[in-house]
Amino acid sequence: MPELRQNFATKEWVVIATERAKRPEQMVQHRERKVLSAFVPTCPFCPGNESQTPPEILRIPAAGDAPWHVRVVPNKFSALSRDVQPNRTIHRSRRTVNGFGFHDVIIETPDHSKLLALMPDSYVAEILRVYKTRYDELSLDPWIAHITIFKNHGPDAGTSLEHPHSQLVATPVISLQVRERFQHALRHYDDYGECMFCMFCQMIDEELEEQSRIVMVSEHFVAMELFASPAPFCTHIYPRRHMASFGDVSAAEIMDMARMLRTVLAKLYHGLSDPDFNFTIRSAPAENVGVKYFHWYVSVIPRLTRVAGFELGSGMFINTVLPEAAAEFLRKVDAERSLQTAAHVHGS
Ligand SMILES: [Zn+2]
Ligand SMILES: [Zn+2]
Repeated sequence: MPELRQNFATKEWVVIATERAKRPEQMVQHRERKVLSAFVPTCPFCPGNESQTPPEILRIPAAGDAPWHVRVVPNKFSALSRDVQPNRTIHRSRRTVNGFGFHDVIIETPDHSKLLALMPDSYVAEILRVYKTRYDELSLDPWIAHITIFKNHGPDAGTSLEHPHSQLVATPVISLQVRERFQHALRHYDDYGECMFCMFCQMIDEELEEQSRIVMVSEHFVAMELFASPAPFCTHIYPRRHMASFGDVSAAEIMDMARMLRTVLAKLYHGLSDPDFNFTIRSAPAENVGVKYFHWYVSVIPRLTRVAGFELGSGMFINTVLPEAAAEFLRKVDAERSLQTAAHVHGS
């Protein structure tokens, strides 16, 4: 029987289309991936071409022979500028804010061909520490209302440059979608929140008890498929300790988060044959740091299906893979294969 499920946090409805249900392995897309070389002379993010990017914001030096480890530069094609004042205008039904904001590009590695899923955990941790450094710095800017950190991998995920990179966008406004999620979380906290922190803490506890949608658990994090997952293999990673903001993450937690994020990406890479994906860190807006009702998380979304007219018109997603089947499938994928593959490819 098809089933409509409601997302506990967002209150959005999802159609779990069991009539057209697919086994998880049917979602594997054997796409033609170009074999990338480690260095591409025309790539603006490759070593030696540092002058082709706007002036660097941050650089993590490398140990050994590599030219550097991680670089952060402003996005050359940013729609937002740090040099304007975010003045608001309201004229009749039309409101605007000057295009103030920050748009960073985090160049994850000097190696053009290296994937996050195949990097050592310690290297991924370095990238996450860079995210946190920039997140903390920009959170202090009084004009900044919200910060989004994300990665696009592959053309279906909207990437335009193949060199491994992620992005951070800091805006002077908060989108309605983020506002609404906050309002749901606050209302839930007001109604039920006497003996627990937030609705996410409640859901994490219940999912850990039920186990069927859990992908993996570590000391500080848990990765799971949502009960009302909007898309096949959409995987959320939650800190087990209550924290509203990514900026609150500790040094020990960042190391553990790196291992978990890398492992989830490796499971997708091996299990689904390197799908295009996005991930995004959903964290409290700057004005809500430290609140008890919101809980930050990472959302990893493989782009295996396309959004069509029904989704656009109804605001309801159709998911053709049972979240429980997706979780079981991902639990079984051996993520550690990746390190052997990496060692084989890079000969190190
Ligand atoms: Zn490159
Ligand atoms: Zn919580």
